[in-house]
Amino acid sequence: MAASDPTGGRPVDPSRGALRPLGLAEARITAGFWADRQRVISEGSLDHARAWMDKVGWTGNFMIGAATGPAEHRGREFADSEVYKLIEAMSWETGRNNDPARKREIDELVALIGGAQEKDGYLNTAYGRPGQAPRWSDLEWGHELYCAGHLLQAAVADTRVHGPGPLLEIARRTADHICETFGADGSTGICGHPEIEPALVELYRVTGERRYLEQARLFVERRGHQTLAPHQFGWSYFSDDIPVRAATVLRGHAVRALYLACGVVDVAVETGDDELLTAVKNQFDRTLARRTYLTGGMGSRHMDEAFSDDFVLPSDRAYSESCASVAAVMLAWRLLLATGDARYADVIERILYNVVATAIEDDGRAFFYAHSLHQRTPTRALPDDEEQLGFGGGPRAPWFEVSCCLPNVSRLLASLSTYLAVADDEGLRIMQYADATVDTRLADGRRVALETTTAYPHDGDVTIRITATDGGEWPLTLRVPAWADGATVTVGGVPEPVTGTLTLRRAFAAGDEIRLHLPMAPRFTSPDPRIDAVRGCVAVERGPVVYCAESPVGEPLGDLDLLRVDPGRASADGDEGVEVWGGLAAATDATWPYDEPVGDDPPLGLIRLLPYHRWARRGPATMRVWLPTVQSPRARSTDG
Ligand SMILES: [Zn+2]
Repeated sequence: MAASDPTGGRPVDPSRGALRPLGLAEARITAGFWADRQRVISEGSLDHARAWMDKVGWTGNFMIGAATGPAEHRGREFADSEVYKLIEAMSWETGRNNDPARKREIDELVALIGGAQEKDGYLNTAYGRPGQAPRWSDLEWGHELYCAGHLLQAAVADTRVHGPGPLLEIARRTADHICETFGADGSTGICGHPEIEPALVELYRVTGERRYLEQARLFVERRGHQTLAPHQFGWSYFSDDIPVRAATVLRGHAVRALYLACGVVDVAVETGDDELLTAVKNQFDRTLARRTYLTGGMGSRHMDEAFSDDFVLPSDRAYSESCASVAAVMLAWRLLLATGDARYADVIERILYNVVATAIEDDGRAFFYAHSLHQRTPTRALPDDEEQLGFGGGPRAPWFEVSCCLPNVSRLLASLSTYLAVADDEGLRIMQYADATVDTRLADGRRVALETTTAYPHDGDVTIRITATDGGEWPLTLRVPAWADGATVTVGGVPEPVTGTLTLRRAFAAGDEIRLHLPMAPRFTSPDPRIDAVRGCVAVERGPVVYCAESPVGEPLGDLDLLRVDPGRASADGDEGVEVWGGLAAATDATWPYDEPVGDDPPLGLIRLLPYHRWARRGPATMRVWLPTVQSPRARSTDG
């Protein structure tokens, strides 16, 4: 039996492209902000999710028909996929910390799943059994190919971390069955929820089985021809309205559109289809420019969990599902690897610090499904551990009937170290800043190792120390984020200004230090004037972190809907907060809420903002990211 991936494994492993991703054994997070979030997953979320999946019957579904199993399927039609995502998260987690108990848990789950696979390879607990709908009878809503996709991705993770095992065999039989059913000579159907596309490509990368790549390509080319049944929100809900090559922007259900785009990049990269790659890159670029929240969140329509039209980005109706942020990181990562454009690493950083870091409670046992940017009424108290919500908006909850988000964020965080650095044709590039170690081989086989230390994002100083090198020149590239005006780098002597990507080509020696300074002064950000929902407002950012005003019940700041701030002055408070000058305008409740322009600005005092990712951690609260400005900035401050 072949060994596990010598790099330690990574979620995406393209055979071509500008950059090569590192594996879990090559890049490790050692301390700091993301180590804390990884610990939350490791010590809280994985066990919490497993316990809930047992309680609500999602793991038990794999024993339907068995002597000790349930008589009927429980949960929604995509419940299998959550078990698969949890296995994927657990696999990356064991790759990270080598926990034998977790590995045993994976093996037990895999045995359970294997027992539910049919002789011909079909595997889904909601279809095809006596009393259930027939297989493939509901491509729009059935999620069968979607579930299979997550099974394949779990198998890819397990194989890369632990080596080929039973889960890979289960996945291959499933994929073979799909190729036989939906191949060139079979059904021409596609799944209402994309996901099988990137999964088949990744399974191809693991196995070398070219029919999986060809099947993914077929699914991509078939989409956009309105072959799925019409949907009340239009075919765009499924991205089935326009062929992938002809579309200009992501639309419809955000997670579906983003997963599909991931598969499109994968197919384009592996088949050398540059036209297809350009098409999906342009779609994502336009989506970033016109359909993305300041936090990097995507999706502004609750009713169909969807992208809206360009610039329709209301704060108080932000959907910004946690899963959409995971999917957007997956897509930005694929485009970064394919093109080498560090702009996509900026996007990843924004999403990580402002949606992914916001999603999960500090004990790992509750999570946001949707991420509002303006909470007008206090979030309700956290449901107790026995209560589950439906889906969508609301507070961080222990569980939802649709609990896609927790295992999804978990699989991303467990594998997060693989997003820190990449190798290029000659050298190494640092893409994200964290306390970390990197130990890898350059394209020519020379070993290089380094360690980064930083208090980022609280502090903008990053020290990179070379810890081992085989000698000779090689280029070390550092991403300088687009927001970092005034950044400097120090190599030995005096600091020198840098903008954009910085490449140092040296014969580095062990002990060499590079010090990067990224200015962390708070800054005011204004929206494009076409985003009507927040016209007349500013937001505050510091480094990669978006800030918000929060008014917790019990220590209320007041009615945040009346808040006005001076967009001229902000300062870091030395802790993690930022202070701005602001005040609450007088409420002028009338029988009719429209009148002549309102008069005077309120008296101003210091108001403390906190990182958006820290909101709703002190109990029920109101909150807003976008802050209306006073009419006369700097003119009306009162007490100091
Ligand atoms: Zn979700």
